[in-house]
Amino acid sequence: MQEIRTSAIIRSELEKMGMDEVLSPLPTGVVGILHGGKGTGKCVAMRADIDALPVEEETGLPFSSQTSGIMHACGHDLHTTMLLGVARVLCRMRDSFAGTVKFIFQPSEDTMPGGARAMVAAGVMENPHVDAIYGIHVNPSEDGEVGTMNLYKGYFTTAVDLFDIDVNGKAGHGSAPHTADDAIVAAGYLIAALQQIVSRRVDPMDTAVFTIGTMSGGSAVNIISGQAKIAGVSRYFTDTARQTVLEQVDRICDGIGTAFGCRIDVKKTEGYAATFNDAALVDVAEAGIRAELGADKCRYIDKPFSGSEDFSFYSRLTGTPGAFFMIDAGHGKDRVSLHNAKCVFSEEVIRYGVAGMARVLLTYLEQ
Ligand SMILES: [Zn+2]
Ligand SMILES: [Zn+2]
Repeated sequence: MQEIRTSAIIRSELEKMGMDEVLSPLPTGVVGILHGGKGTGKCVAMRADIDALPVEEETGLPFSSQTSGIMHACGHDLHTTMLLGVARVLCRMRDSFAGTVKFIFQPSEDTMPGGARAMVAAGVMENPHVDAIYGIHVNPSEDGEVGTMNLYKGYFTTAVDLFDIDVNGKAGHGSAPHTADDAIVAAGYLIAALQQIVSRRVDPMDTAVFTIGTMSGGSAVNIISGQAKIAGVSRYFTDTARQTVLEQVDRICDGIGTAFGCRIDVKKTEGYAATFNDAALVDVAEAGIRAELGADKCRYIDKPFSGSEDFSFYSRLTGTPGAFFMIDAGHGKDRVSLHNAKCVFSEEVIRYGVAGMARVLLTYLEQ
C-alpha cells in the first residue's frame, strides 16, 4: 500500500491516453474505464498488481531499482507496463468494439492481507458491473522461452492461511521436570502431530501443504521453558481440505495442551483464497492468444501452482468468472525464482503480454 509514485505514474499515463474515466478507489489503487465506440455490451476487466518487494536488488541491470531495499522481484512492474500497454492499444481501437474494458491496477499483492480484497470492497467490480476478469503473471521460464501463455482450467493457485501458535506451560529448573510443564516438549509433539494432518486427515485425492517455518522457545540449557512459539503456513485448493486443516489444527493443539498441561493458543490469519479458472474464459483466452500470437504461444500445462495469489478474490468475493495465467518471461544469465534478488526477466515479454491480452479482451467482448 506504499505505491505512491507508481500509482501517480499510472494515473497520468491513463489520463494521457484518453480513458473515459480514471478512478482511485484506494490511495494507491487505480482503475481506468474505457467504453467501446460501437455501443453497449459486456464489461471485461484485466487486473495488474503494481507492488514491489522488500528485497535489495542484485541484478546489476542498468535499470536496477534506485530505491534501496525495494525491488520488483516478482515482476509486477512488467504487469503494470503490460496493462498500460493493453490500455493504450484498446484506447486507439475504441471505435472497433462494443462494451466496456476496466483496467484494474491493484496495490499490495505480495503483502497480506493483500490489495484485492480492499479493491473489491471499494467497488471496483461494479459501476459498471464486471462480467469477467483476467490477470496474468510473468514467470522465469525453464528454457528461456518468452511470450508463451500457460493456461489451466479449474483451481490454479492455492488458498493460504497462516498460524501463530503459543505454547504456554510452566517454567522450572532443569533438574526438577516434575515441578514444571515443559513448553518445548509439548511444542515438539505439536510439530510432529501437525504433520499428520496432511498424511492422515486430508483426503488423498485432495491436496494440502503444511509448513512450519519458525519455532522458538527456551532461554538457557538448564531451564525448562514455560514458553514456546511455532508459526506455520497451510495451502490447499478446495474448501474441504481447508476446513479439515483448520479444524485439525485446533483439535491437535487442544489435545497436546491437555496431555502436557500447557495452554496452547492458536491465532489463525486468513490469507488468500484459491484462484479458480473458469473454463469458458480460458477457451476465450486460447482463441485470442492463438489468433494474435500463434498456436505455439499457447500451451496447456498439466499441473496448477502450489503458490497463492490474491487475484482469487475478484472471483471469490463477487461470483464473477475469472481466469489467471502465467506468461513465460525468459530469464537472466541463470534462472532464479520470483522474489529472488537476482531475478531478471526478458523485456520482450511485454509486447507478447500487450498484444496477446488486448486480443483476449476483444475476443471476450465480441462473443
Ligand atoms: Zn510475489
Ligand atoms: Zn507476483
